[in-house]
Amino acid sequence: MPTFNRVTAETITVLQNIVGDENVSIREHDRKSHSVDVSGHEPHISEVVVWASTPEHVAKTLKFASDANIAITPWGAGTSVEGNPIPVYGGILLSMARLNKIIALYPNDLQATVQAGVKFRELNEKLAPHGLFFACNTGGDATIGGLLANNAAGPKAVKYGAAKDNVLSLQVALTNGELITCGSRSIKQSSGYDLTHLFVGSEGTLGVITSATVKLVPIPQHICAIVANFSTVQSAINTVISIKHNGLDAGALEFMDADFARFLTHSESSGVSLEPYPTLFMEFYAGDADGLQACIRAVQSICVQNAAISFSSTTNDVERDKLWAARYAAYTYCQTVFADHHLLTTDTAVPISTYATLVQYIERDLKQRGLVGFMLGHAGDGNMHVILPYANDDEKRAVYAFNAALVEFSLELGGTATGEHGVGIGKREFMRLEHGLAFDVMYRLKQMFDPKGVLNPGKVF
Ligand SMILES: Cc1cc2nc3c(=O)[nH]c(=O)nc-3n(C[C@H](O)[C@H](O)[C@H](O)COP(=O)(O)OP(=O)(O)OC[C@H]3O[C@@H](n4cnc5c(N)ncnc54)[C@H](O)[C@@H]3O)c2cc1C
Repeated sequence: MPTFNRVTAETITVLQNIVGDENVSIREHDRKSHSVDVSGHEPHISEVVVWASTPEHVAKTLKFASDANIAITPWGAGTSVEGNPIPVYGGILLSMARLNKIIALYPNDLQATVQAGVKFRELNEKLAPHGLFFACNTGGDATIGGLLANNAAGPKAVKYGAAKDNVLSLQVALTNGELITCGSRSIKQSSGYDLTHLFVGSEGTLGVITSATVKLVPIPQHICAIVANFSTVQSAINTVISIKHNGLDAGALEFMDADFARFLTHSESSGVSLEPYPTLFMEFYAGDADGLQACIRAVQSICVQNAAISFSSTTNDVERDKLWAARYAAYTYCQTVFADHHLLTTDTAVPISTYATLVQYIERDLKQRGLVGFMLGHAGDGNMHVILPYANDDEKRAVYAFNAALVEFSLELGGTATGEHGVGIGKREFMRLEHGLAFDVMYRLKQMFDPKGVLNPGKVF
């Protein structure tokens, strides 16, 4: 277990000199509001919260923390679900919330350069008049820096990819006080090592992203949402595979199990009514209205071939938004219904041909262990979340044992412990199993970028 120096009165003075008095707080309220994300992991309170408002603030604060051997944890919006920004060793909590300027929009290049603390929703509001949007978005009100640091994905990744697929260049502050720029604004880049994608997904353990040039995409004009029910998981997943093979322009291919469909229907605030069967929520795009109708017919035909028991489609924006609002708020409904519980969310991902095997395994294992778990999956990417409520230590042990077995099974299927939430606290124990010797290479990189191990300690390793 690493040991770090404590924050002292002298530390506070140095930090105030770097970022200004108004950007340093030791108030309990500020420290508590940056002590836990939306996961069920235990909160930890930092000793001081620092808000950086320039890249130089970040670089100087990092160098100071490293020289003084004080733990320092970056914080975007705290919407992670794996404990990623929890300051488990106390020390300095470095908030990026005030590094929130949109530096430049390049509509003709379909690019934007933004500071790391810009939230993707705010960016998309600014982009709407240009007919563009940043496509990597999640249900949480996350920052661009946080999305990149976790390599987050979400329902639209089946079309637009994860955060890593939507970034061209980064400015990053290092623990030695340097500010480096990786990548360029060119779409094609084969110049040297790809440092940009080393920092993406590193969860703030190698450096702190201060700004990013991200890719933008046109807002689709002709969109339909489709909901289909199936009597078996296998037929739902076969439908997803057929749709992918068919080359239809799917913007989302989301799976939910019968229990979750029932749960959503009974959550008054969800406003949707679903049959209690394995369900697909889908979205498709086309260049014009006729093309969209042809697409709906093609999807319906695939669903019928796979013995769908119900099929409904809508091109109405309000109805579509209602469905997606219900899907995006799924985690929040669970939090509300299980208010006196913690939630564990699994995040394994497997090759799509094995997805039905994974779902059947989960159904069987939940039953054998007598656990309650709801399945929500980004089926188009082979990514599955099981949301498991637990209320006491015994239940916690049981859901964690389920998760460990699920990770092992997913790795056997050729998958990964975490498709989009990152390693954070909960997936660290699986890193050796998943990566073997490559995990040692990761550790050597960590030592090179952060020799004292002060940057977001207790995560990934
Ligand atoms: C309702 C809801 C739905 C969600 N749905 C999805 C989903 O579908 N898919 C998905 O992938 N995620 C989802 N999430 C999780 C979450 O939105 C993502 O993990 C997101 O990437 C977190 O971004 P953040 O700005 O909140 O970062 P934080 O949670 O604050 O931090 C994320 C990690 O990055 C580090 N960090 C933060 N900023 C920087 C920076 N500038 N430079 C370097 N490191 C930094 C932190 O130390 C931490 O390790 C959901 C969350 C909620 C609440």
